Amino acid sequence: MSSAAEKFWSKVNGGDVETCWIWTGATNGVRYGSFTGGSGRQVLAHRWAYEALRAEIPAGLSLDHLCRNPTCVNPWHLEPVTQRINLLRGETITARKAAQTHCESGHPFDSANTYRSPNGTRKCRACGAARARRYRATHKLAAQPQSA
Ligand SMILES: [Zn+2]
Ligand SMILES: [Zn+2]
Repeated sequence: MSSAAEKFWSKVNGGDVETCWIWTGATNGVRYGSFTGGSGRQVLAHRWAYEALRAEIPAGLSLDHLCRNPTCVNPWHLEPVTQRINLLRGETITARKAAQTHCESGHPFDSANTYRSPNGTRKCRACGAARARRYRATHKLAAQPQSA
């Protein structure tokens, strides 16, 4: 029976720090390479490589691909990060929203003009005020100052 290291190296092209080591073996159904480790458990190839060749991954952290290549298992292209940072760095809706500096109408998301909705997304105060004004106008509430 071959060791985890032998299995790993039989499925990887590469060896130097600069280039991506592309995993040629199976993936775990998501998109990361995986193989059966010494204990018979499925291990993720990039996590195994990091722990075998660099350092232990701190508990609770996931590995972020700095090269943005999910099939790369070069541990020098990986960095342990919290799940939150990983999501922010990925090409997700969350990341695009967090990276926005202005609302759809072009108002700045600065501290004076921004508030958080109950679900945590940022809201534009200027747009909220404009919506309220339109609402009052269409419902003819502007003439009733006590309605606030
Ligand atoms: Zn890489
Ligand atoms: Zn706005």
